[in-house]
Formats: sequence, C-alpha cells, structure tokens
Amino acid sequence: MVYLQRIWRWWQRLVFEAGGGSEFLCDTCRYDHGGACGRRERPNARRCPDYRR
Ligand code: SF4
Repeated sequence: MVYLQRIWRWWQRLVFEAGGGSEFLCDTCRYDHGGACGRRERPNARRCPDYRR
C-alpha cells in the first residue's frame, strides 16, 4: 500500500510541477534536506506543523 501511495504522490508531483508550481510545502521548507526531517509526509507534505520557510 505504501508503494502505491508513493507512486501516486510521485505522479502528483510531476503534474503540479509541470503546471509551473508546487503545492507541496517541503519544496520550500528549511528542513527538506538530509536527516533534518523525519516525517513520513516528506517530501510531499501539504500540511505540516513543523513547516518553516
Ligand atoms: S518539516 Fe514538514 S514541510 Fe518541512 S520537510 Fe518535513 S514534512 Fe516537509
């Protein structure tokens, strides 16, 4: 199931980024690198209490 979710999210990322923008918070979050973030939502979070620009 997790595998299917990843494929779905990967596809969503392709579609939204091709449209000129991203709706995923992780793309602009300061914690989106290395081991700075351990959340399961990464890199496709749409809501995140830890988000910092
Ligand atoms: S803190 Fe939240 S928004 Fe930032 S990288 Fe992690 S999951 Fe994404």
